[in-house]
Amino acid sequence: MKDSYGREINYLRISVTDRCNLRCRYCMPLEKTEGTGPVLSFEELLTVVRAVLPMGITRFKITGGEPLVRQGTVDFLSELKRIPGVERVTLTTNGLLLHRDLEKLRSIGIDGINISLDTLNEQQYRRLTGIPEGKGGVSAVLDAVRASVSFGISTRLNAVLLEETKDQILKLASLAEDLPLSVRLIELMPLGPAAFERSFSPKKALALLREQYPDLSPVSREAIFEEGRRKSPYGNGPAEYYASESLKGFIGMIRAVEEPFCESCNRLRLTSGGQLKACLCYDIGIDLLPILRSGKAEGVLEKEIREAFRSAIWKKPWENCFQRADDVTEKRTMNEIGG
Ligand code: SAM
Ligand code: SF4
Repeated sequence: MKDSYGREINYLRISVTDRCNLRCRYCMPLEKTEGTGPVLSFEELLTVVRAVLPMGITRFKITGGEPLVRQGTVDFLSELKRIPGVERVTLTTNGLLLHRDLEKLRSIGIDGINISLDTLNEQQYRRLTGIPEGKGGVSAVLDAVRASVSFGISTRLNAVLLEETKDQILKLASLAEDLPLSVRLIELMPLGPAAFERSFSPKKALALLREQYPDLSPVSREAIFEEGRRKSPYGNGPAEYYASESLKGFIGMIRAVEEPFCESCNRLRLTSGGQLKACLCYDIGIDLLPILRSGKAEGVLEKEIREAFRSAIWKKPWENCFQRADDVTEKRTMNEIGG
């Protein structure tokens, strides 16, 4: 379905929990309570997905909080993959529990896994994520990244660009020299605790990368790649990808603030509590929970869900407001929204 600006909305990011086994400083403050509100059941989520497929929403990202801390997430992904008409199911995770679930994720044919890792420095990782010594760290995440690639799963490494991790940009990018994966640099979005962090500009990051890889150049969405490289780095999202002869994989840039990608925005978000969000920075959306728990008969329920989606799509603003901090009305943190 098209929104009021003619953008095709075909992608839903589903948060299955606000809980997390990390406390990344820019996402989820240490003192944050988690798991206190209502949470949509997997059955309710499947009902939503079946209802919206006929509207052309056929691509789904499962996120959180940390989706793998919720029991049953992988079975839910498996169910989702089996629904006729579902085109693409991907997962975003911090990678710490991935070793446990990777085999199954491969067997259900997951279409891609994004693994978040902002630094290769163990001490810095612990400072940024709040994880105590002995609880897994950079090496555990890197093992998950390598295992995912070796299983032939389309794998992306997501790193948020922070001033304090700018020396990590080239180190993270170098992972794509040996592995056919996309290393994606994400501009910090000033939501919740992130508003107090110092971001690093994607433009500056790109300049650093060009010094290291002088032939770095944008990849067209239609490009065909040499054998041995992934067919295309593009997925559901707004990343722009770059290639270099020195890289087996790609570098991705996600710019939400400096040069927002709103013109091509194709997404809605569903929080774990059931709020359908039209845009990340505004607290505008529709609560699906009362609809899902209204006891309406099959058929009527799906119609009401579609009505709610139509209304949310219609409310989508033209662009985000991250450049105008005072306009940001979203007060929840990223782990609550589903980043
Ligand atoms: N726990 C999973 C993970 O870390 O991948 C999934 C949820 S997390 C909220 C999804 C993505 O959002 C992660 O890559 C994380 O780095 C990113 N993120 C969180 N807060 C952000 C912010 N303020 N700006 C930009 N990206 C953010
Ligand atoms: Fe947890 Fe992901 Fe947020 Fe880090 S970014 S606190 S791993 S939800």
